[in-house]
Amino acid sequence: MNFHVLTLFPDMIRDGMNTSIIGRAMAGGFLDIEAVNIRDYAFNKHQKVDDYPYGGGAGMLMQAEPVYLAYESVEKKIGYQPRVIYLTPQGKVFNQEMAKDFAEEKDLVFLCGHYEGIDERVLEEIVTDYVSIGDYVLTGGELPAMVMMDSISRMVPGVLTNQESGETESFSGSLLEYPQYSRPEIWHEKKVPPVLLSGHHANVEAWRREQSIYRTARWRPDLLKKADLSNKEWNQIRQ
Ligand code: SAM
Repeated sequence: MNFHVLTLFPDMIRDGMNTSIIGRAMAGGFLDIEAVNIRDYAFNKHQKVDDYPYGGGAGMLMQAEPVYLAYESVEKKIGYQPRVIYLTPQGKVFNQEMAKDFAEEKDLVFLCGHYEGIDERVLEEIVTDYVSIGDYVLTGGELPAMVMMDSISRMVPGVLTNQESGETESFSGSLLEYPQYSRPEIWHEKKVPPVLLSGHHANVEAWRREQSIYRTARWRPDLLKKADLSNKEWNQIRQ
């Protein structure tokens, strides 16, 4: 999978992504992350890419042309029109289902805004998906792009090892993940739940499911609507 990030701060992307599991996946050839510096496509000698908004108001806007040229460089390189995600607090709020959908693509372009945002005309021309990472405003789209790339990457074959498999993780179904424990068996007088030491696989699975349901009901009851629960499990939650 190839990510192409259109940004004014390419170092942020390069430094931020080249570590741990994602860094390993890049070294292994499962992922490629290209940071395209929009400033390289500025049409003035000071490489200025922002200007005042028509109609007045606070702040500066990123201009259409450098953004368009940066996008065009990617389109020319890959030879087709890819999906282009504009990171914006006005977009659809990102979730695991969207990550799965984006992971089907061969190439994805992320457009990172800065200042007050980007001239609307270039957005109309190139953007296919408007995505937010939550109801708050950040200074730029780089962190949201990194959040998205990280979660999408986890669904790309070869990125996670078997041991790191995402199958049981929160949001892989509609339930949050169960609590987990590692050595030692007793820490600060807290014991690992005995069932996890029993070696009884079915009992471990049953305990984990019960814990997942309990956690989801407590912290994210909104998710339960989509969960596939038996009547018995629904009754247990209601008690
Ligand atoms: N004036 C814009 C508005 O009110 O919608 C906000 C601009 S924000 C200060 C600058 C840039 O940060 C945006 O263009 C976008 O790329 C990014 N950004 C900020 N908050 C975000 C969020 N919650 N999700 C995704 N991108 C965000």
